Amino acid sequence: MAKVLVLNASYEPLNITSWRRAAVLLIKGKAEQVEHNGKLIYSDFNLPTVIRLRHFVRVPYKEIPLTRRNILHRDSHACQYCGYTGEDLTLDHVIPRSRGGGDTWENMVTACVRCNVKKGSRTPQEAHMLLFHQPRKPYSSLYFEVSKHLKSGLHQEWQKYIIGL
Ligand SMILES: [Zn+2]
Repeated sequence: MAKVLVLNASYEPLNITSWRRAAVLLIKGKAEQVEHNGKLIYSDFNLPTVIRLRHFVRVPYKEIPLTRRNILHRDSHACQYCGYTGEDLTLDHVIPRSRGGGDTWENMVTACVRCNVKKGSRTPQEAHMLLFHQPRKPYSSLYFEVSKHLKSGLHQEWQKYIIGL
């Protein structure tokens, strides 16, 4: 079903909703249409793809679970040491667990089996294996969700509202 990107009054992305809910917000005058895809849902009512709330809302930060799937997504399913993108991906502790490295966003990266084995229980410096990107916690769960839509090729019109992806 068609999804709609909801922007805050400040134009910052707020969440992703269904087109039905977006249509209700537009009809009630709580939001304005920013982008539509040219398809009509009623006569002279376009199917929205981006809307903006008329009043600013505050949102609390939502934690993104540290899971294998989410780490792979953050790293674009590519080995952070050699760039390999294939099936045989593992998770590597940058500072090995045996050396006190923890299970955190900052210490876990996607690595292919070859690089993981080669690195062993060494740090990247010791193994002379540099990371493509310094791993970090994703900026927000919304940006994370939106980037999944963009990577799947859907909703390219959302791109310009998401800075830093
Ligand atoms: Zn690799």
